[in-house]
Amino acid sequence: MSLFDRISSMKRNEAPSLRSWLADLQDHEILTLDQPTDIDYLPTALVLELERQGRDPVVVIDNPDGFTMPVVSNLFASRERIARFCGVEPGKFHERWAQAAEKTIAPRLVESGPVHDHVIQGDELDIGALPISRHFEKDAGRYIGSGILICKDPDTGVRNLSYQRLQLKGPNRLGASLHSRGHIWEHLSRCAARGKNLEVAIVIGVHPAINLAAAAKVAMEVDELDIAGGLLGQPVDLVKCKTIEVEVPAWAEMVIEGEILAGVEEEEGPFGEYTGYSTYRSTKNVFVAKAITHRERPIFHDIIPGFSAEHLLLGRSSKEAHVVMRLREMVPNLKAVNWPKSGTHFHAYMSLKKSAEGQPNHAMMLLMGLDPYIKLVVAVDEDVDVFNQDEVMWALATRFQADTDMFCVPNALCNQLDPSSRNGTSAKLALDATAPMNWDVERAVLPESAQKWARETLTSIR
Ligand code: MN
Repeated sequence: MSLFDRISSMKRNEAPSLRSWLADLQDHEILTLDQPTDIDYLPTALVLELERQGRDPVVVIDNPDGFTMPVVSNLFASRERIARFCGVEPGKFHERWAQAAEKTIAPRLVESGPVHDHVIQGDELDIGALPISRHFEKDAGRYIGSGILICKDPDTGVRNLSYQRLQLKGPNRLGASLHSRGHIWEHLSRCAARGKNLEVAIVIGVHPAINLAAAAKVAMEVDELDIAGGLLGQPVDLVKCKTIEVEVPAWAEMVIEGEILAGVEEEEGPFGEYTGYSTYRSTKNVFVAKAITHRERPIFHDIIPGFSAEHLLLGRSSKEAHVVMRLREMVPNLKAVNWPKSGTHFHAYMSLKKSAEGQPNHAMMLLMGLDPYIKLVVAVDEDVDVFNQDEVMWALATRFQADTDMFCVPNALCNQLDPSSRNGTSAKLALDATAPMNWDVERAVLPESAQKWARETLTSIR
């Protein structure tokens, strides 16, 4: 039975889940491979080739060679789809996110859920039986990149959701790198100070709104599931894990329950990171599993790592929203900001309706301050589409002079995965490609009606 036959035969009244979301996709948004497919390298190669061809479908590997469950990936490759997860048009994602972060909805605990249809413990437990890919040649092994790690602050009990790369090491053993040193790192340190391990549930396959919320960098007091509820417009149903004191989404495809060991280190990595480079940076942590629970006929969700559109977009969509909303408070004439894929997380293009000289520099300083990853900002006028890299380069070609229209900030905090960074610092470059206020040059344009006609004509003869 193919993945989609399976979904269409869903019997229960499905809550928001990976399945409910997949069931709403249109045929042309899905690329299904039903022949036996080796999951080492091939899914990654397929997604990156689609990207080279300018295509971004959800990819379904229905029959991974040697495994019993299908794999879905590339959910997050398109901005349009990411906006749709949250029920809005592409241009409205940042506003929708800000709303959800403001009006959160707390999850609710329920008695039981499909994620506990099957519970595997003891000798039967084998993480390696999951269709976990080897993604890149230099990767140290098979890696789970889509796992949401849920744990709790041992002092306050506040939950944390985050992604950490997980290397398959044995039937019940994963290597983990917590190198972003986020809240989970703090939780582990607090447990370790008491000589205790940190209980962690690794959740795979949820409604994409939960995936997006798990990528958010919010305050330690905020449960990312409250934001997921805000995005979904309803509470996320949770069930208690079987072997640890952690709650997980009741409609998840699968959960690996266990703990990260205090004071134990093992080699981990390298792994192909979002910069496009294999990186050895690792905190060398170890996770030991106690149970795997899963739905009937589970679906494995993989996120293609490295310099892929989905890895980059999932990683930064919520950050973009936070930064843009804050920037807009200070720069009301801001039109749009784009972090282009070519810049990994390090470049940003900003458009604004300039009403005074000096505004672009002010706005670019703010943006560089709000997002320490940024190394290059280009400011353009509102007529330039920042989501079209050609237009941004055209504005640079025709509205920018290097001797007067740029500045550089040396030795500022940056992201250490940038291989050109120096001890955690880098230089920041700001390019003002806006036209002067008194410019008398006119852009050659078409009537909107003619452009609309062209779009409609091409749609109808596709
Ligand atoms: Mn957190």
